[in-house]
Amino acid sequence: MPNLLRLHTLPQDEQILRAENRELTFPLSKETLDLIENMKLTVKKAPGIGLAAPQVGHNLMLAIIHLEEFGMPAFTLVNPKIVSKSIKKTSMEEGCLSIPGKFGIVKRPSRVEVEGFTEEGKPLRIKADKLLAKVLQHEIDHLNAILIADKFEK
Ligand SMILES: [Zn+2]
Repeated sequence: MPNLLRLHTLPQDEQILRAENRELTFPLSKETLDLIENMKLTVKKAPGIGLAAPQVGHNLMLAIIHLEEFGMPAFTLVNPKIVSKSIKKTSMEEGCLSIPGKFGIVKRPSRVEVEGFTEEGKPLRIKADKLLAKVLQHEIDHLNAILIADKFEK
């Protein structure tokens, strides 16, 4: 049975949220596969639409995208990177499970293309717009130690 993980938040967990995250190699270890199941449960219960490994105390290039309420099955992203982004940017109000109670407007490219791997090590290429594009960028920012508080429009 998966376990709920402790959400790491500002200010006390800033060190982990700001640390470098390392890439995973395949096949993933049993420990990492368990972590993925625990992260899926944790993001669902939070509730949140995305969760990156450093947010639960693991400095790994790993994130879960959880848009079930928007009709998309939850999926795992391993070693993701943005390979292209639109010139056009749009603003959206964002929140973060690591910055409880704080919301702000963040301006980001409206469309992105992301490459990464599934938990089975299968290559993934996602062309995203709208909310999915924003969530992917938010989570990949976490994997690069960037938080939305750095990007709030004044
Ligand atoms: Zn976040």
